[in-house]
Formats: sequence, C-alpha cells, structure tokens
Amino acid sequence: MHMRESVECVVIGAGVIGLAVARALALSRRTVLVIEKERYIGAHTSSRNSEIIHAGLYYPAGSLKARFCVAGRKRLYEYCAARGVAMKRIGKLVVATDETEIPLLAKVMAHAEANGVDDLELLDAKAARTLEPAVACVAAFHSPSTGLVDSHALMLSLQGEAEAHGAVVALRSEVASGRVHDAGGFTLEIAGDEPMTLACKILINAAGLYAPGIARRLAGVPSDSIPHDYYCRGVYFTLPGKAPFQRPVYPVPEHAGLGVHYTPDLAGQGRFGPDTEWIDGIDYTVDPKRGARFYAAIRKYWPGLPDGALQPGYAGIRPKISSRDEPAADFRIDGSERHGIAGLVNLFGIESPGLTSSLAIADYVAALVNAPAASSAPPVRARPAP
Ligand SMILES: Cc1cc2nc3c(=O)[nH]c(=O)nc-3n(C[C@H](O)[C@H](O)[C@H](O)COP(=O)(O)OP(=O)(O)OC[C@H]3O[C@@H](n4cnc5c(N)ncnc54)[C@H](O)[C@@H]3O)c2cc1C
Repeated sequence: MHMRESVECVVIGAGVIGLAVARALALSRRTVLVIEKERYIGAHTSSRNSEIIHAGLYYPAGSLKARFCVAGRKRLYEYCAARGVAMKRIGKLVVATDETEIPLLAKVMAHAEANGVDDLELLDAKAARTLEPAVACVAAFHSPSTGLVDSHALMLSLQGEAEAHGAVVALRSEVASGRVHDAGGFTLEIAGDEPMTLACKILINAAGLYAPGIARRLAGVPSDSIPHDYYCRGVYFTLPGKAPFQRPVYPVPEHAGLGVHYTPDLAGQGRFGPDTEWIDGIDYTVDPKRGARFYAAIRKYWPGLPDGALQPGYAGIRPKISSRDEPAADFRIDGSERHGIAGLVNLFGIESPGLTSSLAIADYVAALVNAPAASSAPPVRARPAP
C-alpha cells in the first residue's frame, strides 16, 4: 500500500551533518524525521575521512569554513568529553620539507591567526624532531588544538540524543523526488522498503555528495540556486605495524586537499592520505597503483618509509562545488535568502572541515529554521544559538 504521511521537519541524510541538525531541531522541540537511503548511518563521507578535529588553520578569514571550524571544534571537544565519545586532543605538525615551502607555512599560520587560532608554535627542524624524531623537515609548526575523534561514536551519540528527543531515523528510505508547494511546505516521494509520499513544512537537504542532485529533483527550486557538483576522490593507504609518529603530520596544503598526511587512528594504527583525484561519479574503488605516488610524497617528510610497507585502505570523496580550475568554494548553507523558498535549507559543498564543524553547522541551521520570521525571511547572518 502506498502511504501518505506528514511530519513537521524532514532531514535528508543520516551523515554527521544530518544527524547533528536532527539533534539540534529535536532539542528545539521540532518533530523530526531523518530519511537515509542506506542500511546504516554514516555510510558515505562521514565514515570515509581522516577523523581529524581541525583547529581551523587553512580557511580564508571570514569564510563559513573558518568560522564553523573554530566554533565547531570547541563545541565538539566539550560534547565528546561530556558524553564519553572517544577523542584525543593530540596536536599536529605541519612541515615544510624544503626552503620553497616556508612561505606556504607562513601563509597557513597567518590564516590561522586571522581565524582566531592563537596557539600555533613555529619550530625549527631540531625542535620538530624533539616532538617527532622520525620527521624530516626544514621548519614546522605545531598546532596543539588539533585532535582525533571517533566519527562513528559521534554519529551514534547524535542519533541517540535526537531520538531521545523524539526524532525518528528511517533507514533504507530514499528521497526520489519532490516538490515545493506555493502555499508553503513540500511533498517528497520516498522509495525503498516502504514507498510513501511524505509532506513536511521544513526540509533540510543534508545529502552530502547527493545534495545538489536532490535539489535538482525538487520541482520548484530555482535551478540557478543549485551549484554544479564535482567529486574529488581521496584514497588512503594503511601502515601495518609500528607507527612512525605519535601525532598527525601534514605537509603544506595543496590545491584540492591538505596533502598526503599521516594520521594515527585512536588505537594508534597509522594511515596516509588522502590524495586527490577528480572523478565523474561516486566510486570508492582504491586503485593499489596509486600507492606508487604515495611513497615519494611521504618520503619527503618520512624518509624511513620502507619499500612495500603501504597497504590499500579506503577512499572518500570530497563533495566539491568548485571545479579543479576554480578557487576552493566555501560551505554553502542556503536558506530562503538564496533560493526564495520558506522552510528549505540546502547544504552544499560540506567537505573538510565538515566533521569538525558539524555541531556549529547544526546550530546555524537550527537558527535559520527557528528565526522568528522563519520561514519567510531568515536573517542572512543568523548567529548560531549559544
Ligand atoms: C577524504 C576526506 C577526508 C576528510 N577528512 C576530514 C577530517 O579529517 N576532519 C573533518 O572535519 N572533516 C573531514 N572531511 C569532511 C567530512 O567527512 C564531511 O564534511 C562530512 O562527513 C560530511 O557529512 P554529511 O553528513 O554532509 O555527508 P554524508 O556523510 O555523505 O551524509 C549524507 C547522507 O545522505 C544520504 N543520502 C544521499 N542521498 C539520499 C537520498 N536521495 N535519500 C536519502 N538519503 C540520501 C547518504 O546515504 C548519506 O548517508 C573529510 C572528507 C573527505 C572526503
């Protein structure tokens, strides 16, 4: 039987962003249904990343990435500490491996300071080796407020709190299409185990890589408000055995990513990645041949990497909204000031530092939705709730 149901808020996507938004809306006494097409939460980008709590070093001052990373990082440490979600404020080193990279190191430090990250420490090679004896560099800086988080434990906690406040997460349910009503509100066609037509007043599109595609399938959303979607895959290679470093070690950033870096997981197991490869569709294949390039990149800062040590790991895909030829785009969190539709929030381009920013993004989305004139004219510069 084809059902018709109605709910106040629908969040599309049970990644870290959709779950954080669902929790924030449920805490503000909204009735929330999360629609997730996969069989479990966090099946896409939220479980295919480096699990770093970023300090906020890289992003242009005033950008949403800078603002949400710094605010989200503080919120995340508090949240995880209060709830026993595994995390570690472990710090990280960013290293210049030759003289030509020193200006880039300085540029990142200047960005970081403009973003309110005031705890960076510039190190000469000797001081860097005191922290990490295996590292090779000409200079480095240490970021003490960088950390690691168990992203799955975080998502389970967000889901649990959302559900404790009445939210429902429907798995194996895919938003196939929908439309915007002139009189306000939306209807969605849901495919999956229980196909149905779902009506809602508030719609949050937190579908990650799929968010622009869903917006295009929502009749009534102006097409010029939907960015082009680009995919940039990053693969990881794991390092079985003894870890070379205690903390994450990063080269200076490159155009589409942060460079092939070293990240220990919370159990101390090391991995390197992600690299950058622009691709046409969502495909998580790890081509073992890409490992060849990793050796050269890693040996710049860890000459001790033995031949044949790396094992193919996993891949993640950055949900880009700028092409390889354009400057990196900021997060886009579009309310009605962007697309003219009351009650709709589209989240586009939530690449790194999206995990770090998740709680701050959720506050911002909840403030947009809960603004007094909600639903006709949310303030353009809505501040996150305290
Ligand atoms: C390689 C890589 C490394 C990264 N490293 C870091 C890091 O170290 N630190 C950091 O802060 N950030 C990092 N990020 C960024 C971070 O992982 C993302 O910003 C974050 O996970 C995005 O979460 P999301 O909920 O928006 O997307 P997702 O986790 O992709 O969730 C979207 C959900 O929507 C669902 N969905 C899609 N279409 C539909 C539909 N039609 N109907 C129903 N459901 C649908 C999907 O199944 C999915 O579960 C990294 C990203 C990448 C790619």
